[in-house]
Amino acid sequence: MPSKISSAVLVGLECYKVEVEVDLSLGVPSFNIVGLAEQAIQEAKERVRSAIRNSNIEFPLRKITINLAPADLRKDSSLLDLPIAIGILSYQFNFNIDPESIAFLGELALDGRIRKGRGLLPLVWGLKNKGFRKVFIPKENELECSIIKDIEIYPAETLKQVIDFLMGNTTIKPSEFKFPKYNFSFDEDFSIIKGQEVAKRALEISAAGGHNILLIGPPGTGKTLLARSLPSILPPLTYEEAFEVTQIYSVAGLLNDESLIIKRPFRNPHHTISYAGLLGGGSKPQVGEVSLAHRGILFLDELPEFRRDVLEALRQPIEEGRVIISRAKYTVSYPAQFILVGSMNPCKCGYFGDKEKDCTCSPYEIRNYWHKISGPLLDRFDIRIYVGRVEKEKIFQNEKNENSEEIRKRVEKARKIQEERFKKEKIFTNSQMTPKIIKKYCFLSDDAKSFLTNIIDKMKLSLRGLDRIIKVSRTIADLEESENIKIDHLAEAVSYRGLEDFIL
Ligand SMILES: [Zn+2]
Repeated sequence: MPSKISSAVLVGLECYKVEVEVDLSLGVPSFNIVGLAEQAIQEAKERVRSAIRNSNIEFPLRKITINLAPADLRKDSSLLDLPIAIGILSYQFNFNIDPESIAFLGELALDGRIRKGRGLLPLVWGLKNKGFRKVFIPKENELECSIIKDIEIYPAETLKQVIDFLMGNTTIKPSEFKFPKYNFSFDEDFSIIKGQEVAKRALEISAAGGHNILLIGPPGTGKTLLARSLPSILPPLTYEEAFEVTQIYSVAGLLNDESLIIKRPFRNPHHTISYAGLLGGGSKPQVGEVSLAHRGILFLDELPEFRRDVLEALRQPIEEGRVIISRAKYTVSYPAQFILVGSMNPCKCGYFGDKEKDCTCSPYEIRNYWHKISGPLLDRFDIRIYVGRVEKEKIFQNEKNENSEEIRKRVEKARKIQEERFKKEKIFTNSQMTPKIIKKYCFLSDDAKSFLTNIIDKMKLSLRGLDRIIKVSRTIADLEESENIKIDHLAEAVSYRGLEDFIL
């Protein structure tokens, strides 16, 4: 009878059970793995053989056949080393392992140690939901798995330790459930930013309604600091959101000394980033920056410097909140819902619209500069503002600025209103409203309508542009706790689209 050991692999964030069937028979000694075994599995043979020998256990001189089922599932995970080794050794040691309730995950080093792996959090979580009661994991992944309840987790350091445990010769302390405390500390705070009232207000609206925002201005006006301060006014992640974000970081292998990521991510990739780096993909499904920014902020500094095809590819995750990566060998999808913050100079020389330095660009050069970014992508920024220099008299003024905590309270209130409003829809923030949902929740008085008709003529607004103004004005009204969208709200929202003519 072949022995059966359970394990699992990930496709995206989805956990799939894998059965490791091991058969040892008499015959010429050999070691074969079948069942869509990828390169990593072939290498597993060498690791498993050495790890067993270096644990001072004899490697069986038999004809060994390993079948990984189901056959149609891609299994390029080195975490299958441990279940393969246990399967081989269960002949010798007669382990009593119930494949329905116990699972094993771990890559083996040649000396028999169990190495830290990736994606342990979603794997263990998935196994628990599939009804498993016990799981063996690498010791170094203990912390990230400690936020999962209702499954016994055995963190092991070596293959020998697992064998001894299964033989009843030693104990392994199951990991304890731990839930981290939220610590509100941020690197930046709004109170240290001098002046820039318009930009701060625009960021507050962006945070409240989840609106993408583009900061345009000459070099050195503090666009980067403004963007970096945005996380400090966003509400904390809920437990579900934190769990989701942590799973992504677990798959990416980016969890350090935290068990649960509780701060909203802020990702700031350099403009030389590749398509796979930003969106994900590559020969092995790599997690892209758009997914690492999930539930947080993706900040692209110097937007026109990014490769155009890379920027264009952002449109799909912006619309769908997910990124789908298709390659010849696999298709995976990762969540990617973020606030996009872009910053750029207004022109090639950088000083168009500046009060102190003259712009040396010709109108042709300015247009060319803006054409580095496509109209449809620019259109996805609900808010676009000019960030100018701080007036000299404000630089040394010691006026007391509002701090991030005060602003965050207003943002949280506005988010609650939206949560309540969209209870029956599948969205959370105003920025996610479709034209149909806008009609349902953004009632406009006759006065408001005639105000907007005027604006459409003046600004030659597209319908899409008009929808974006209404969405932003809905957020402004929510910040004021006003049920109706008033002309003031619309007028303010229009002011954040002021660069329309300049861009198109
Ligand atoms: Zn210029």
